[in-house]
Amino acid sequence: APVQASASEKFRKGSRFILVTVRDLTEQRRLERMRADFVANASHELRTPLASLTGFIETLQGPAREDPDARDRFLSIMLEQAGRMKRLIDDLLSLSRIELKAHVQPDTLVDLKDVIEHNLEALKPLADELEVALEVDLPAGEILVRGDKDELTEVFENLCENALKYGASGKRLDIAAAAGTGPRGAEWWEISIRDYGPGIEAEHLPRLTERFYRVDVATSREMKGTGLGLAIVKHILTRHRARLEIESTFGEGACFTVKIPRADRQMTDVKDEKLHK
Ligand code: ADP
Repeated sequence: APVQASASEKFRKGSRFILVTVRDLTEQRRLERMRADFVANASHELRTPLASLTGFIETLQGPAREDPDARDRFLSIMLEQAGRMKRLIDDLLSLSRIELKAHVQPDTLVDLKDVIEHNLEALKPLADELEVALEVDLPAGEILVRGDKDELTEVFENLCENALKYGASGKRLDIAAAAGTGPRGAEWWEISIRDYGPGIEAEHLPRLTERFYRVDVATSREMKGTGLGLAIVKHILTRHRARLEIESTFGEGACFTVKIPRADRQMTDVKDEKLHK
């Protein structure tokens, strides 16, 4: 690994004492690289709908000027492209807002049951339209965690919307919550969203939470995706000392599980070692 070394020499009580500072530049370079890639990707994603808008405006000013049919068609495509730009900008702002708060621990008492139930209500019309049955299995009492209610709402909105968008062909969606058991008893809540759609090939699973990573860009666009949803989910969960586990058997559906510390237990991070199966 490339290292940067700086040495300063000091003399103390006649004996020579050398201080050497070694800093690992690999991590720093990786972060710089990631930031540069991100800006390039974001610009590219915004430029595509903008180019399309410009193209249609020029056509409307010229050849399509006197053609009302073409005008209507082009205007609706332009509205769609403007919508895509808006979704991208909203997601980019969401991501940067969460990043700015990355070092602050959100600490309000939140009942996730309330969050999930509200979310299900909002989801119902789309589920009905897609003829997907929502199977819900929640514990009797509250699901208490410490965090930011709006952010946690965003997490479940994103995961359920994805399950509906990408997994609708399975015609069924299971939303379940249960206490997760560790060495010190029930320490965290596990909330899982399982669909029975096409699932995700194993090679993609580790990369799904990367910004702009999509298994199939065309399908994501069709579904009004930006490729930022799961990156936002991951950032929010990290801030909550929680984590996201993704399992899928290709062809049989996908399951996204959130593991988050319970508020009625001592706060500990949900650690990888503890949870590996
Ligand atoms: P997008 O805006 O494209 O939906 P996300 O970050 O939310 O972006 O998801 C990243 C990619 O993960 C999606 O483009 C899709 O390919 C895949 N994906 C997410 N959820 C599911 C699911 N439930 N079933 C199959 N694929 C999924």
